[in-house]
Amino acid sequence: MSTTTAPMDDPWQPRGSAKVTMKAVHRATAGHPWIYKSDIESSPEVAGMVHVEGPGGRHLGWAMCSPRSQITLRLLSRRKSPIDRAFFVDRLSEAHQRRQRLLPGIDAYRWVHGEADLLPGIFIDRYADKVVLQSTCEAADHFEAAMIEMVDAQLAPKAIVVRNDAKTRAREGLRQHISVVKGDAPVLARYREGNIELEVDLLADQKTGGFLDQSANHLRAAHYATGRALDCFTYHGGFALQLASVCDEVIGIDSSSAAITRACANAARAKLSNVTFREANAFDQLSELRRQEERFTTIVLDPPAFASGKDTLESASRAYKEINRQAMGLLHPHGILVTCSCSGRLTSKAFEEIDCCRPRCETPGSCARTPARTRSSCADGRA
Ligand code: SAH
Repeated sequence: MSTTTAPMDDPWQPRGSAKVTMKAVHRATAGHPWIYKSDIESSPEVAGMVHVEGPGGRHLGWAMCSPRSQITLRLLSRRKSPIDRAFFVDRLSEAHQRRQRLLPGIDAYRWVHGEADLLPGIFIDRYADKVVLQSTCEAADHFEAAMIEMVDAQLAPKAIVVRNDAKTRAREGLRQHISVVKGDAPVLARYREGNIELEVDLLADQKTGGFLDQSANHLRAAHYATGRALDCFTYHGGFALQLASVCDEVIGIDSSSAAITRACANAARAKLSNVTFREANAFDQLSELRRQEERFTTIVLDPPAFASGKDTLESASRAYKEINRQAMGLLHPHGILVTCSCSGRLTSKAFEEIDCCRPRCETPGSCARTPARTRSSCADGRA
């Protein structure tokens, strides 16, 4: 664990100008927020704010500069006047207002989602009264101390954690570190998903603590669920605990013992006695359950990203095929399969095209599977 550096007096002070090619100008004016190293003629050697100019000194905008990154410039604004503290304060509070409007009454959400909130490389997750920040590029590191101070001013959370241990940082040549910048370790947070209270350790658990991108899907899955349910790759029981409120019996599986311990504690706090968790490899468990001729009316598959890059797409497709095929084999006729992929490299179309039920669908028209959508969707398991 380490302490963060003291805030610079003025991190917004421009570091100079970057001169970019006409190709970069076209991409940027079409709305792309990134300018690659290969499209830059000259740029400052230090991380921070830069003025971006096209050929002939034409003003293009202001960008965060990460000199060592292939994505050297991340555009912040096309405006003429320099970027200052107030600009960042506004972006942060606009992002917050969007969440409050779209997610009323929700106490845990991704408050800032990098480029999507026009704050490139900056990720901020809120877990009730605690906040986690993550920077994924050198320029975001440069503004981090200032962002922490703004988060504190806007939300006054009880604790603020910096989780700079994302794999993407290694690719950018950045140091991996975790620190508590407000409050004391350990930093545990409790937040709600519907009627369920989930607890996370913001320093030790996976990602920034929870998989907040699946929160809405946890609740949605319970709308379709009935009977006996299986939740593979359950983590803290996000799906399993919601299913337990509508199903007769739920089994949650995960290979992480820390995750299973927390899932059990979440179930106990919710006084749910119809859910059990197993620490096991989901691939092994799926074949074991098939061997035992077990049947389920609802199955959730939410594995980690099997494809980390282009070179792993093929093996990832095989792994998705394998678990989905096994799940189809365990599903009752008219059962529901909620199947997810968080492999950014695998398109929704490619995911839908993974043919997981061929062995059971040899008779034309016998498979009524509806196409799956990336990140949680439902398929009718008739075969
Ligand atoms: N379903 C969860 C998120 C799951 S993330 C939610 O909605 O909150 C992926 C999970 O898969 C992690 O908890 C990880 O520990 C687990 N995992 C990774 N490989 C596994 C394997 N081979 N078998 C079982 N679990 C695995």
